[in-house]
Amino acid sequence: MIVSGKDLAARLKAEMAAEVATFPEKYGRVPHLVVILVGENPASVSYVTGKAKDSAEVGIKNTTLRMPESVTEQELLDVIAKLNADSDVDGLIVQLPLPKHISEDRVIEAIAVEKDVDGFHPLNVAALWQKRPCVLPCTPKGIIRMLDDAGVEIAGKKAVVMGRSNIVGLPAAKLLLDRNATVTIVHSRTPNLAEVTAEADILVVAIGRPKLVTADMVKPGAVVIDVGVNRDPETGKLCGDVDFAACVDKASVITPVPGGVGPMTRCCLMENTIECFLKNQTK
Ligand code: NAP
Repeated sequence: MIVSGKDLAARLKAEMAAEVATFPEKYGRVPHLVVILVGENPASVSYVTGKAKDSAEVGIKNTTLRMPESVTEQELLDVIAKLNADSDVDGLIVQLPLPKHISEDRVIEAIAVEKDVDGFHPLNVAALWQKRPCVLPCTPKGIIRMLDDAGVEIAGKKAVVMGRSNIVGLPAAKLLLDRNATVTIVHSRTPNLAEVTAEADILVVAIGRPKLVTADMVKPGAVVIDVGVNRDPETGKLCGDVDFAACVDKASVITPVPGGVGPMTRCCLMENTIECFLKNQTK
């Protein structure tokens, strides 16, 4: 089964749009997401544009604040402080990466935890690891949604997560663990990588290496979730970390790139914005 994150995201966004349409009457306004973009990095510009498009589809108010590459860290922190204090703003994102002269850690920490729709704030991360209520990071949340929608049983399965980044690998491993999978995390220093991955019932790949995962690394019948977004060095087209053509017949469930995890990441950002908005209403 090839699982289309695009179709699932479209379904979930339609449901969210119907819910958000009821908010003006219930709460007097719709959720408001502010996205800060520093500089002109083409990938960041495209991600920010995608967030504005998704917001429009769901009925969420979106403000994109563009700042020059030369903005100082203090100027950025001042804008964040203002938005933190603005009760009309429910979600706040600073698009990463930031220019080298700005500390991403300081910026992430400056965002009010209740507006941290990316789920990157240290308090949200700590809450995730302590199994307390928190905003879940969008990509791992989207992965679990896709597994559930595809009817994949997670409990009791051997899951291998390739990659240990703060935004994908580590939280994906934690969410799988919370669903009672037995989880192994592998990374660039793991010896005999293929032997470990070939044991996985569920293989989540988030390494940023085009088509590194080949058929011999996949167990027959495995569920393969490809998070990677790369340019194929041969064709120049978008591709994942998994050699899709080689693995599609070996896996029982596999996600394509593009059209797999990416749309679900974006969809979960909309969900998180609504979640933060609703929490704001009950305060
Ligand atoms: P990252 O911060 O660069 O982390 C990459 C991880 O992969 C690291 O833990 C690294 O190991 C490991 N790794 C690198 N080469 C490896 C190899 N040859 N074998 C085994 N492990 C290896 O990347 P990220 O932010 O997690 O993103 C990973 C990929 O997902 C990228 O392609 C990114 O564009 C994509 N992504 C997609 C979405 C989406 O929504 N679809 C969202 C976020 C990211 P070490 O720790 O040992 O260095």
